[in-house]
Amino acid sequence: MENNKKLKNWLTDFHLTHPLVIAGPCSAETEDQVLKIAHELKNSDVSIFRAGIWKPRTRPGGFEGVGAIGLKWLQKAKAETGLLMAVEVANAAHVQLALEHDIDVLWIGARTTVNPFAVQEIADALKGTDKIVLLKNPVNPDLSLWIGGLERLYQANIQKLGVIHRGFSTYEKTKYRNNPEWQIAIDFQNKFPDLPLICDPSHITGKRDMIQEVSQQALDLNYDGLIIETHIDPDNAWSDAAQQVTPSVLKQILIDLRVRKMTDDADEFTQKMTKLRTQIDDYDRKILEILGNRMKIADQIGLLKKEKNVAILQNKRWNEIVEKMIQDGMQKGLNEEFIVHLFKAIHQESISHQERIINS
Ligand code: PEP
Ligand code: MN
Repeated sequence: MENNKKLKNWLTDFHLTHPLVIAGPCSAETEDQVLKIAHELKNSDVSIFRAGIWKPRTRPGGFEGVGAIGLKWLQKAKAETGLLMAVEVANAAHVQLALEHDIDVLWIGARTTVNPFAVQEIADALKGTDKIVLLKNPVNPDLSLWIGGLERLYQANIQKLGVIHRGFSTYEKTKYRNNPEWQIAIDFQNKFPDLPLICDPSHITGKRDMIQEVSQQALDLNYDGLIIETHIDPDNAWSDAAQQVTPSVLKQILIDLRVRKMTDDADEFTQKMTKLRTQIDDYDRKILEILGNRMKIADQIGLLKKEKNVAILQNKRWNEIVEKMIQDGMQKGLNEEFIVHLFKAIHQESISHQERIINS
């Protein structure tokens, strides 16, 4: 599959003067909840209403979605508000029900994108459809798996395609629910510049307070749209309560966002700088996270040394570390002096941590 200007057509047909906005609850809960939220989003910048009907939950026993009955509520919401309706589909049966209820947009969730069998089954069920189909990134940071999913849909002759960047799972806790790894989405964008790219700040952050910041970052990176979980009573939502915002907060977020256009050279420069700076910020954050984790291990070593009454400074070990790091670092294009400098600082911090523990 190659980039093609036509990939953008379905989005251009919306004739928007702002990024595409998809909003609505994580899950449809009751008819009343769906209708209330849809009415609040009517006459705003929101074009598409989202609601999960079948919910893939990490562990069993949680709320797993209201099922097909919710599709009727969405039909009613569409009739009353004119908003297009979007649901998540994870298998051919979901697709069939969504099509029977004339749902306009179908998205494939992160837990489904990881499975080529499931994506192929959905692609086959959607063959030749004129519905909009959006593919979330897989939960694991694997660009080819994401592209592979897109290719399966493209080969099924689905014309209106887009992708949603919702971040990636990590074992280590970070400030995000799902680490954005912006670089992966940027690589996707570079490969398919005309394919609509939508950011999901709700699932990236997991926290409503961070949605504005991540949405702005996405727009600075020239994303085409946002999908933001919106609920009339976020704290009491049946799923993803911490990350949902009220319709009025959503509207304020949209007002506060600065939309940049790629119009002249200066803007192109800004766009390029933003991309590069985002990558640098990503790495700097990772460096700090890794250093923090390294110091936690140093603390454990400190405890062990305290227990066994062993001296903190182990010169032989330290010299070995520096030697090894100089060799490895120089192969990565780093200067020897810099490497020594860096590791001296790290070692010093490690010693301070251990001293604190041993003397406590
Ligand atoms: C969702 O959009 O509610 C959802 C389940 O998202 P994801 O597939 O990104 O986890
Ligand atoms: Mn959700």
